[in-house]
Amino acid sequence: MSTQLIVEKSNSGQMGTSLPVLDVPHKNLTELIPEKYLRSESPRLPEVSEPELVRHYVGLSSKNHHVDKDFYPLGSCTMKYNPKINDWTASVLAEVHPYQPESLSQGILSIYHELEQQLCAITGMAGFTLQPAAGSQGELVGVLLMRKYHEVKGNEKDVILIPDAAHGTNPASVAMAGYQVIEVKSNSKGLVDLEDFESKINDRVAGFMLTNPNTLGLFEENISKISALIHGVDGLMYMDGANMNALLGIVRPADLGFDITHLNLHKTFSTPHGGGGPGAGPIGVTEKLMNYLPRPRVEISAGKFYLDYDHKQSIGRVHGFYGNFGVLIRAWTYIRMLGPEGLRSISEIAISNANYMMHKLKDVFELAYDKACMHEFVLSAQTQKKQGANALQIAKRLLDFGFHSPTMYFPLIVKEALMIEPTESENKQTMDRFIEVMKQIAEEIETNPDMLHSAPHNTPVGRVNETYANRNLNVRW
Ligand SMILES: *Cc1c(COP(=O)(O)O)cnc(C)c1O
Repeated sequence: MSTQLIVEKSNSGQMGTSLPVLDVPHKNLTELIPEKYLRSESPRLPEVSEPELVRHYVGLSSKNHHVDKDFYPLGSCTMKYNPKINDWTASVLAEVHPYQPESLSQGILSIYHELEQQLCAITGMAGFTLQPAAGSQGELVGVLLMRKYHEVKGNEKDVILIPDAAHGTNPASVAMAGYQVIEVKSNSKGLVDLEDFESKINDRVAGFMLTNPNTLGLFEENISKISALIHGVDGLMYMDGANMNALLGIVRPADLGFDITHLNLHKTFSTPHGGGGPGAGPIGVTEKLMNYLPRPRVEISAGKFYLDYDHKQSIGRVHGFYGNFGVLIRAWTYIRMLGPEGLRSISEIAISNANYMMHKLKDVFELAYDKACMHEFVLSAQTQKKQGANALQIAKRLLDFGFHSPTMYFPLIVKEALMIEPTESENKQTMDRFIEVMKQIAEEIETNPDMLHSAPHNTPVGRVNETYANRNLNVRW
């Protein structure tokens, strides 16, 4: 711990807000609120003045690493800059009450409707629901849609295929929806091993879940062949589109043969996320699955928007109201600000940034798959491990230079993996700074690996016992 003294900031009698005096005429409170709902004691809330409160949060934010502070190359998480105008629109529109009648919510409903159409244009899908609150929930909804499709058609299916490079949420969602997961191997190029894939295709297969670009940052070359094989047994193609950052305006999942896709709005479409923060994982489907989408659906009739609950074949509601409002508004703002040209340039820059860094680093760290990458790439610190410091220690040492670690030990098929995703929002200076630091760390490992074992040296909290922290999580002040 730092030497800074931790003191209790709450002081009885201090206040950070001034509430107006109650101006509803009443004799006593029980006239307004039934007695059983009235507190007998005040809640135990911190009592702090506004300046102390501001200092508390600014202090916390300066101790932590965040994308507004410095580079955050956390692969698969798309930690890009989140434009502040997104927060402005979200906070202005947050005045709307979720129970406001439809006649007074036309603006919000029109935004939802427009956002669904934008996502359809981006992915080529026929319809979207904005309800799922995370990528993982989107996956579950997507697999439930598959289940419904097969039920309606009377198909008897119990298996979903998933590549071994997949994000851990994929097999979890499949298992939660009651299907059996069968793993498909990756080949030496880091792509789906077609031979292994074909050997696992049969009438029991309900569908295939594929991340494209995959979690190695590689574009799946045999996608048309894969789609044809799956559709050949009336299976459905699911694209984990959590990382759409490489495809915007370039490739549409529907054109690749996918029937279902989720997008992580908090990643590609810029909402601050991490630590379990708010998300949105809308699900898009092609025409043949439209009837099964969760209800209500946002519809328009005679110029009026409304929530339509009348979808007989729907799998039902998956979120209160219509999803995570703040995240949806941020994504809509982001898309409106950029327009089609801007969206395409995001992906072009994200891809060239990742390839630039990959080429600069591949002489120092082993490259897991030596092939042009999409929005991210995976290094392996196997050589460094033999020299005395592994991927974890490199990650810790990076903190001393003010950088967040890349994603580590994922995907599982790469030993000592360091998965780097610069995103489009980093400029050349920042990337060069990171490249230099990575080279310096590689040099330190050759000459003095021990020094990495005690890193980080200058963060407010040094090395923590991660196992203990995990098992005994205590996030209280
Ligand atoms: C982040 C991610 C997910 C999960 O999304 P959450 O919103 O964290 O639930 C799924 N798949 C991939 C490839 C991801 O990167």
